[in-house]
Amino acid sequence: MNVIATTLTTLPFAQFKRSPNFYFVYDAAYLVCALAFVAALHAIGWRSPVQEFAWWLPLLLPIATYVVIMAHVFIHNASHGNFPKSINRIVGEICGVVVLTKFASWEIVHRRHHRYSDDPERDPHPAERHYWRYAINTLINVEKQLQQQYFDLYGDTPETRRHEKIRSALSFISGVALIFGWLTLLGAPVFFVLYLPAFFFAALFVIFFNWAGHNAHEADGPIEPANLDHGIFWILNRIFFGIFYHGNHHKMAMLFNPMHMPVRARSESTAHGERDEAEAA
Ligand SMILES: [Zn+2]
Ligand SMILES: [Zn+2]
Repeated sequence: MNVIATTLTTLPFAQFKRSPNFYFVYDAAYLVCALAFVAALHAIGWRSPVQEFAWWLPLLLPIATYVVIMAHVFIHNASHGNFPKSINRIVGEICGVVVLTKFASWEIVHRRHHRYSDDPERDPHPAERHYWRYAINTLINVEKQLQQQYFDLYGDTPETRRHEKIRSALSFISGVALIFGWLTLLGAPVFFVLYLPAFFFAALFVIFFNWAGHNAHEADGPIEPANLDHGIFWILNRIFFGIFYHGNHHKMAMLFNPMHMPVRARSESTAHGERDEAEAA
C-alpha cells in the first residue's frame, strides 16, 4: 500500500533517476491500461453519443482547444510540483493523457529546459527567431532529449543505446494505444473534428508560448526568458494563469501563477537588471 502511495505522490523524474527501467514499467503500464480501457468500452457496448458529423461540432473547437491548452498549463504546474503533493502526480498523469505525451516525458523534457535554458545543445527547445523552424526542431528534439537524459544518468554505451531504442518503440506503441482509447471513447466525429485539431492547435500554441516566452518573437535583443504582458499577451495571461510571465517563472518555478510574483522577489530581479512586469507592460 505504501509503495502505491509513494508512487502516486512522487514525480516521474525522481523515479526515473532511481530506476533505469522506470520508463519500461511506466509505458508498459500505460499500454496495458489503454488496452484494458478499450476492451472495457467494447465489453459494455459503449457508443459515443455523437455518431455522425454535426454542423455544431466545429463551433466547439475553441472550447476544446482551450481545454487542451489548459491541460498543458496544468501539466507544466504539476512538473514543478505546484499542486498539493497528494494530487500533483494524479493531475499530471490526467493532463498527460489529454495532451498525449504522458506526464513523464513532459516533466523530464521540461526539467532539461529549466536546467539548460537556451543552451543550443542541451536545451530540448532552444529558442530561435524563425517560428516554424523552431516548431519543427522542438518536435524532433523531444525524443532525442529524452534519450540524452537517459545517457546522462546511466552512461552512453551500446547497452544503454539498445535500451533506449526499445524504450522509444514502447513509448510510441503506448502513445498509439492512448490515441486508440480516445478514438473509442469519443467516436470518430468528435475525435477527428474536435479532439485532433484541438490537440494540434494546442501544441502549436505551447510551442509559440515557449518561443515568445524566450523573447524569440522580437526582431532583435537577447533570447532569454522574458515577461510579456502587452497586447494579446495581456489577455492570454489572464485566461492561462500568467504563462507569459515566463521570466518570473524561470526565477521562481514554484509559483502556480508567475504573474503573482512576491513584491520582494520582483524588486530583487529588477535590481539585477532583469526585465520585470513594469518594463514588459
Ligand atoms: Zn522557458
Ligand atoms: Zn517550467
